[in-house]
Amino acid sequence: MMKIYDTDFNFTGGLLTCPLTRRIVIHHRAGDGDVLSIHNGHLKQGWSGIGYHFYVRKDGSIYRGRNIEKIGAHAEGNNSDSIGICFEGNFENEKMGKAQLESGRWLIAYIQESYGKNLKVLKHSDLSATACPGKYFPFKEITKASTDEVVSKMFEDGIISLSNISNWELFLSGSAKPKADYIKTIIRRYQKKVG
Ligand SMILES: [Zn+2]
Repeated sequence: MMKIYDTDFNFTGGLLTCPLTRRIVIHHRAGDGDVLSIHNGHLKQGWSGIGYHFYVRKDGSIYRGRNIEKIGAHAEGNNSDSIGICFEGNFENEKMGKAQLESGRWLIAYIQESYGKNLKVLKHSDLSATACPGKYFPFKEITKASTDEVVSKMFEDGIISLSNISNWELFLSGSAKPKADYIKTIIRRYQKKVG
C-alpha cells in the first residue's frame, strides 16, 4: 500500500464540487520541482490554487493537490468531470524511472477502485492540441498495469466474472481499451496466482 501525502494548501475563492467524475486526465509538468511550487505557480496565474488533484514525483512520492471532489483546472473545457494527475518531469525529452512509474500505476488503480472502477483514462493530448504528457510518457505501461490490478480486484470482490465480462469490456477507454479476451487473460492469471 503506497501513501498519498496530504497537503494543506490555501485556495483563493470557492471551489466548485464536481457533479460527476468519469475521467482521469494524465499530464506532465514539463519540468521539475515540488508540489508547493506548482500551487504557487497556479496562484500566480490567477487560479484558485493548484489545478491538479494529484502530483507524482520522480522519487515515487504522491501528493494530493486540489480536493478530489472539487473541479480541477488542468484540461480546458474538460475539467468538470475529470481528475487531473500530473507527473514531475518533461517526457518530451526524458524517460520515466521505475519509482515514478510504479506510483503512477498504483495511483490510477487506487482512483479507479475509489470510484467504482470505470473511469476513462486519457492523455491531455487526447483532449487538446498539446504535447502533454510528452512523447516518451509510458501511457500504455501505466494504464495497462493498473487495468490488471483493477480487474483482479474486481474479480476478487465478485464484481466481474467470466460470465459477465461483456458488461465490463471497454470499461476503461482512451488508449487503454481492455477487450473481453484481455480481461479473461487477467482473470485466469489472477486465478493461477491465488491457486
Ligand atoms: Zn497537461
